[in-house]
Amino acid sequence: MPPRLIKNLPESELTAWLQAGGHAVFRLKQIRQWLYGRWVLRFAEMTNLPAALRQALVADFLAFSLDPVETQEADDGTVKWLFRLADGESIETVLIHAPERQTVCISTQVGCPVRCTFCASGRDGLIRNLEPAEIVDQVIAACRHRQQRVDNIVVMGMGEPLLNLDNLVAALDLICGAEHLGIGARHITISTSGIVPGIRYLAELRRQWHLAISLHALTDEQRGRLIPPHHRYPLAEILDACRYYRDCTGRIVTLEYALMAGDNDSDADATELATLARHLDAKVNLIPYNAVVQHYRAPDERRVRAFEERLRSLGAKVTLRQRKGDRIQAACGQLRRRRLDPAQPADPASD
Ligand code: SAH
Ligand code: SF4
Repeated sequence: MPPRLIKNLPESELTAWLQAGGHAVFRLKQIRQWLYGRWVLRFAEMTNLPAALRQALVADFLAFSLDPVETQEADDGTVKWLFRLADGESIETVLIHAPERQTVCISTQVGCPVRCTFCASGRDGLIRNLEPAEIVDQVIAACRHRQQRVDNIVVMGMGEPLLNLDNLVAALDLICGAEHLGIGARHITISTSGIVPGIRYLAELRRQWHLAISLHALTDEQRGRLIPPHHRYPLAEILDACRYYRDCTGRIVTLEYALMAGDNDSDADATELATLARHLDAKVNLIPYNAVVQHYRAPDERRVRAFEERLRSLGAKVTLRQRKGDRIQAACGQLRRRRLDPAQPADPASD
């Protein structure tokens, strides 16, 4: 059997594996500390384990799943990786640096089945789901890079997290578990294009994860131009699911709104968005569109400010995503695309 990714294994199975090999069960705790507390990449680094156990681990498991094939570090300390997976597929991860916190933007799928018309990640549809270990290892790579535990996780990289729910939840439990990475549940944000059954499922888990909905439009007709029908839910159902999430978890929801000139940036859109956000008691996060698809572009800065001001004057809570972090974050999918199609410019948003 080829080696398995050790972080994919439920700990009950790992305990059984230790017992079957005649190893002491307390070794599980040591292995866990090396993997999640010291972020090691190889079993050889686990120096307090007996050599025989290390050899047995090497024979049966892989300690880490990602191979960095490209690393870009911006002047402000933000790092973007293109990682190769064991089967040759690739994903992107971004570590966003701010003086007060380190945030990692993680991917959950290779490609994305939702295929929004404005997004680079969805262009080829879904290639495959990421496994729990492949999701967790993106966070471990970032902790290792900084030599400190990161503070926040945003599930806003490639893929629709709520269409890979079991692996997402398994990974987030390792990321949040006090005996694992130990990042507080309130420091996790999951962004979804609005997969209603997934939102309801998460609500019933009653974790303290923060939910962000990629709204981008105020009517089903307008949204239909951005999101193809096969994974798109009616707005009314999405908003109901948001209320349910808030009722079950006590967490307010964020509405993400990527501003695209001429598509969703009118005064009427702002008014409608403010009303909707107030009714839902939600926060609005405006993101000027990052030009990865030619058909769309961000409104000019004055228009963005006017849209923001209108929302605020109508009583909505609103933030405008910082240009720099936004550029790198929303650019998820671009590094990978450039590898697949070298004719693609490095950063089409450069101006
Ligand atoms: N699939 C999930 C999470 C990943 S995308 C979702 O759609 O929510 C993270 C956010 O970036 C989403 O709000 C998405 O709509 C937005 N986004 C994708 N491409 C973008 C672009 N080129 N410019 C601005 N925002 C973009
Ligand atoms: Fe998928 Fe999100 Fe991109 Fe839509 S915006 S294609 S859901 S990654």
